[in-house]
Amino acid sequence: MFDALQENLGAAFKTLRGQGKLSEANMRDGLKLVEKSLLEADVSYEVARAFMKRVSDQALGEKVLQSLRPSEQVIGIVYQELVNLMGPVDHSLHLKGKGEVTVLMMCGLQGSGKTTTCGKLGRLLKQSGRKPLLVAADLQRPAAIDQLHVLGEQLDIPVYSDRTSQDPVKVTGAAVEQAKRLGADVVILDTAGRLHIDNELMDQLKRVDSRCSPDQVYLVVDGMTGQDAVNSAKAFNEALELDGVIMTKLDGDARGGAAISVKEVTGVPLKFMGTGEHLENLEPFHPERMAGRILGQGDMMSLVEKAQQEFDQDEARRLEEQLSKGEFSLDDFLKQMQQIKRLGPLRKVMGMIPGMSQLLGDMDDVDAEGDLRRLQGIIHSMTPAERRKPKLIDHSRRRRIASGAGVEPHAVNELVKQFDAIAPMMTAMAGKGMGDRMKMVKE
Ligand code: GDP
Repeated sequence: MFDALQENLGAAFKTLRGQGKLSEANMRDGLKLVEKSLLEADVSYEVARAFMKRVSDQALGEKVLQSLRPSEQVIGIVYQELVNLMGPVDHSLHLKGKGEVTVLMMCGLQGSGKTTTCGKLGRLLKQSGRKPLLVAADLQRPAAIDQLHVLGEQLDIPVYSDRTSQDPVKVTGAAVEQAKRLGADVVILDTAGRLHIDNELMDQLKRVDSRCSPDQVYLVVDGMTGQDAVNSAKAFNEALELDGVIMTKLDGDARGGAAISVKEVTGVPLKFMGTGEHLENLEPFHPERMAGRILGQGDMMSLVEKAQQEFDQDEARRLEEQLSKGEFSLDDFLKQMQQIKRLGPLRKVMGMIPGMSQLLGDMDDVDAEGDLRRLQGIIHSMTPAERRKPKLIDHSRRRRIASGAGVEPHAVNELVKQFDAIAPMMTAMAGKGMGDRMKMVKE
């Protein structure tokens, strides 16, 4: 995915770079190439236009044009706007507490990968300690029922079906009862699919939605179908009020435009992506990682980081203010870590701070980038309240955060422990000059 987009954007930025200061006309030419790259990647026309307007308003502003390296600033702007375009994403499945049944309704056109995704989701839930029940609510296609049974057997997850019934509402009701009997706590409904959106399908799904009141409604779309995927997401969302989109087949040569556009067109976030036919190929969708990947060619990301340094200075001032009020959250912690990574030699000084040294040591590993992303994945899987007060995270939340971030629960523990060690230092240092800070560190 994104190969052509990466290449075209790389070429667009190359024409902007190396020119030092840019005239407004040069900048406009470069931005046109950026827009063209997006359209060629199958980003919808309206989305590309609106996106470019936001980028241009900033890029053509005096602050950028007069800066030393305007082209680098533009890459930073494109990165940030891509992140804003695809996010924010709340990966939580909003599962109820233990002993209660959560119903996840999965919809999608035939062939989108809906049934496979039901299995993949069941697998993730099982891994995170939940007890899922797969339910065949596609009653028109006996083959779909068989397919779900095969998946259930592979995953050792129970499957409920009723081949005698023609009524998905009744089947769903009976399935919830069955879940209670089995002690299952998440019901995954594999609803009917059709080759095309038609009234009968929508009416049936609407009836299941209104009569069974599922807790979450997800749409599975095929990323290979590009704008069709986005259009069908729009139609489904108008009928059903989706809680999230899951885009499949992003492992293939999908151009990626659908993944970039779907949130802007529908207002519904892309929560997960299917990256292969195997049952473990389901990943949370992270806008920052995607934007990083899109711009990840050559040294573009380091330019993004440079462009962000200015932003960091504002951020440092904001942090200082917050710290002096005694507030330090995991979000601040993450930003600090990201900055430290960029500090280079200054890291040695920071390394003298107790707690930090251990973290920095870890980050000297070859995969410092990956470690930081992992930290970020964990922190982003927490609620805002938890980020401010990690003490709120109990056993079951820890497991869910870990599964949201694709890590083991002990990694969440580690992070919270490190945070607990650092937070008092950070707030104590607030408002003190560098000399005082060094004294504190030495003491
Ligand atoms: P349904 O008709 O929507 O239930 O679709 P299926 O679950 O039967 O999937 C249709 C085809 O897409 C099957 O061959 C799946 O193996 C394949 N598939 C599903 N998800 C993915 C994915 O993320 N990547 C790839 N490459 N294939 C997928």
